Amino acid sequence: MRVKERGRDETYRARIVIGADGVETMVGRWAGLDTRVPARDMESCAQYVLQGIDFNPDAIYLQFSNAIAPGGYAWIFPKAVGVANVGLGLVALKTDGRNAREYLDAWIARRFPNGARTGYTVGGVIVHTTIKKTYADGVMVAGDAAHMLNPLSGGGITTAMKAGRLAGGTAAAAICAGDTTERRLSTYHEAWMQLLGEDHLKYYRIKQALENVDDTSFNQLARTVNKIPAEKRTIGRVFTHALIKHPQLIPVAARFFV
Ligand SMILES: Cc1cc2nc3c(=O)[nH]c(=O)nc-3n(C[C@H](O)[C@H](O)[C@H](O)COP(=O)(O)OP(=O)(O)OC[C@H]3O[C@@H](n4cnc5c(N)ncnc54)[C@H](O)[C@@H]3O)c2cc1C
Repeated sequence: MRVKERGRDETYRARIVIGADGVETMVGRWAGLDTRVPARDMESCAQYVLQGIDFNPDAIYLQFSNAIAPGGYAWIFPKAVGVANVGLGLVALKTDGRNAREYLDAWIARRFPNGARTGYTVGGVIVHTTIKKTYADGVMVAGDAAHMLNPLSGGGITTAMKAGRLAGGTAAAAICAGDTTERRLSTYHEAWMQLLGEDHLKYYRIKQALENVDDTSFNQLARTVNKIPAEKRTIGRVFTHALIKHPQLIPVAARFFV
């Protein structure tokens, strides 16, 4: 593999290369793997670190609304008292022409007009399922490079770490066995699908169903959930109440089990 290192071209030879090169991966493509992302499954995200804002530091806040973050959601993830990652992800195909930062600025202007912005991050988040094939002769791809994120939440940090550990373990065993062929490395894909990949297929189906829920329905759902006393608000009860009061959500729930 040829790399540019401190301005110099270097060539490295390895029996196995693990492509953990993120959302814009090239390693997978070089190995002939299909890492393309459908436009409807690519979210544009923008996030500030905001200081001096008022929120409950023991809670995470997720706000779903086509007006605030079409096709995605806005979040407040506490970092400390008065400090949080405040951001949103949206599907560009569903916007009114503004980009993620413009949507975020509008939301923050209403919600935290006096917050001090001390950090800023932007990037793409793939809300898709694991690519069909994550390995080739002497190559594995892990993390965002293989679309190994939770497609419902867009969370990909722990999933990337778990995939990296699996890939590293598979690579070490393959090298010890003197067999780095794709047949051997296919065990990585199987192990990943068992660990999280199969769950991501279910989450993706739910994501697809939720895409058709409008803001009015989300608000009605929130009101239903708020009627359950906080100490009794288990996932099971939330689901049961939601389905009784909002039978139009039954197909959404069904997608989880089908
Ligand atoms: C704004 C935003 C907020 C997010 N918030 C969360 C969150 O709260 N929780 C969560 O779980 N996930 C979150 N995510 C998603 C999460 O960041 C990713 O899923 C995760 O970082 C994926 O890890 P990775 O190691 O696969 O890829 P990355 O973290 O993207 O790492 C890939 C690395 O490879 C390097 N690289 C790429 N190409 C080359 C090359 N040719 N040569 C050398 N280096 C190269 C890149 O520079 C990068 O450092 C967020 C994403 C964004 C954009």
